Amino acid sequence: MSEQLIYLNGEFVEKHKAVVSVYDHGFLYGDGIFEGIRSYAGNVFCLHEHIKRLYESAKSILLTIPMSPDEMEQAVLETLRVNRYPDAYIRLIVSRGVGDLGLDPRSCKQANVIIIAEQLKLFPQENYDRGLRIVTVPTRRNVPDALNPKIKSLNYLNNILVKIEAAQAGVLEALMLNHEGYVCEGSGDNVFLVKNGKVTTPPTYLGALEGITRNAVMELCELHGIPCEEKPFTLHDVYVADEVFLTGTAAEVIAVVDVDSRTIGDGTPGATTLLLTEEFRKLTRERGVKVPGLAPELI
Ligand code: PMP
Repeated sequence: MSEQLIYLNGEFVEKHKAVVSVYDHGFLYGDGIFEGIRSYAGNVFCLHEHIKRLYESAKSILLTIPMSPDEMEQAVLETLRVNRYPDAYIRLIVSRGVGDLGLDPRSCKQANVIIIAEQLKLFPQENYDRGLRIVTVPTRRNVPDALNPKIKSLNYLNNILVKIEAAQAGVLEALMLNHEGYVCEGSGDNVFLVKNGKVTTPPTYLGALEGITRNAVMELCELHGIPCEEKPFTLHDVYVADEVFLTGTAAEVIAVVDVDSRTIGDGTPGATTLLLTEEFRKLTRERGVKVPGLAPELI
């Protein structure tokens, strides 16, 4: 098999040659932004939405991306085409670029644009059938008026601490609370609860990324006549919920059956969660931008 090709500033470079400088402020300071995108059978799910969020993150941190959103979309599609990956996880990174050691980003003359596509490694189906056990961790979510979690920045230390604390507790994912004790999100997923037939997710102003999967699930609720609202909730609300689930590009929709040793509902994935898991999977096959030029036998 030929080596994986990485998009690096307009060129395709073999993986072992795809390197950036240690003077890149993305490396020195986490100064940059990224997206995690997925393609299903040669269709990139919600590509416009991901690119829009990328450019909004860039605007918020005053980062100039040296190409248009349209060109960026084409670059993503081209990366999948040259690698011949119909089912892929795509990581799109825009770092501030090479500068000097000082913090001032004005020393960085040009952003680095990197697109990595990898063959998808699926989560074990068992996690979906049984549901996840998760915990809450001591680390609180970044305060939005310091570093807004709506910006998908390369500064993911907040999330990494959560991941470490989750691993120490022996679970795959964990919930973060904000500084006031409201539930925000997981280290890499949005959170929802279901109570008395109503679906609720925290408003992003509490400190959460506006997940593309989250938005799609809210749309699916509307389509299926399931009441869904954005409303703050506490850990107590999570513990006494009928159902809890997480959403994200990698995990899609996944049930949570235990939080901090409190069994959620009857301890199995609930009916609403299962319906949304199923409907979301259908949507991923319907709402995509087609990768041009992929051989039919790959799709
Ligand atoms: N929250 C955080 C902190 C994330 O990093 C992600 C993406 N991995 C999500 C939520 C889910 O967002 P999306 O559905 O767009 O993948």
